[in-house]
Amino acid sequence: MTKKIAVLAGDGIGPEIVAEAVKVLECLGRNGLAVELEDGLVGGAAYEVHGTPLPAETLDLAKASDAILLGAVGGYQWESLDISVRPEKGLLGLRAELELFANLRPAILYKQLADASTLKPEVVAGLDIMIVRELTGGIYFGQPRGVRTLDNGERQGFNTLVYSESEIERIGRSAFDIAMKRDRRVCSVDKANVLECTELWREVMEQVARDYPEVALSHMYVDNAAMQLVRAPKQFDVMVTTNMFGDILSDCAAMLTGSIGMLPSASLNAEGKGMYEPIHGSAPDIAGQNVANPLATILSLAMMLRYSLDEAVMADRIERAVEKVLDQGLRTADIHSDGMQKVSTSAMGDAVVAVL
Ligand code: NAD
Repeated sequence: MTKKIAVLAGDGIGPEIVAEAVKVLECLGRNGLAVELEDGLVGGAAYEVHGTPLPAETLDLAKASDAILLGAVGGYQWESLDISVRPEKGLLGLRAELELFANLRPAILYKQLADASTLKPEVVAGLDIMIVRELTGGIYFGQPRGVRTLDNGERQGFNTLVYSESEIERIGRSAFDIAMKRDRRVCSVDKANVLECTELWREVMEQVARDYPEVALSHMYVDNAAMQLVRAPKQFDVMVTTNMFGDILSDCAAMLTGSIGMLPSASLNAEGKGMYEPIHGSAPDIAGQNVANPLATILSLAMMLRYSLDEAVMADRIERAVEKVLDQGLRTADIHSDGMQKVSTSAMGDAVVAVL
């Protein structure tokens, strides 16, 4: 059956990097993958046309598709807009409307790029961690929230950390399902020594683990997890954690690799529908110059094939093709080093297609 993919290029370098991923998709299409692509506007690009970063037709397209490929949103020209219509609202709206509660952020360091990390090569070479972050609950959404004025006139800010058992269970299951396709180890990160909410988190993770006897579950407090990520990151396979802890730890893990242009991400709902995007932003400083690294977007496509389209073999093929172009010494400016061949965005995309 033909799968429908919504292509939302967005702003800044978005259209340039998405164009390269589309080349890869079209190549797979010529080699047996049945997909149909449809473009939609999101972010600043959508605001310019429709006065909103998430027009109804884009949301309808996203809902009617099997998966969404997104570039990035945002740019200097929209920073002064009211927060309700800023480009980033388009992304948040898609996550909320599609109930994309599981955010998968791999931190992979290709051996060819071990020098790009600020850590010693022996600490990070071969790094392959999957951080599974809860994305639609926790303290970022909990009520009540706000800033109030106390009787003594002092202002007080407050937020609420709240998770129901079902929310913890579904993100737990996502993490264990992913671990089954990897090294079968899950480390659940919490602050159960201080926060009752994450005491419950730990308890529910233990319950979920009973359904996955092949997967080893461990627990770690978030402060220790931050230390361990920098000290000995290769000890981790899958990490699962709350929205806020995941926000922080996944950025830390991403930076272990030193190359923001290489890292993909996926956000999934309970039916496995997902939005796939590079972890970086719209990089307005280099937009329109054909110098951005398209590999994070191409690797996001590989995640789409694996997690939403059930095409693991094609996903492997893309990942191997990316390794091959790195072996050939091809580098975009962000990952370039002495002795390597500097290539443009489009040349990098063409090279991946040529290997495929
Ligand atoms: P950024 O990720 O866009 O850029 C940070 C730095 O990394 C810049 O120097 C940029 O040139 C470089 N960079 C990023 N992606 C690259 C790539 N593929 N190849 C080569 N270099 C790359 O973050 P920022 O500068 O903080 O934000 C810029 C805009 O992007 C803002 O409007 C922000 O709100 C938005 N943003 C969007 C998303 C998203 O769409 N998911 C995520 C983060 C930031």
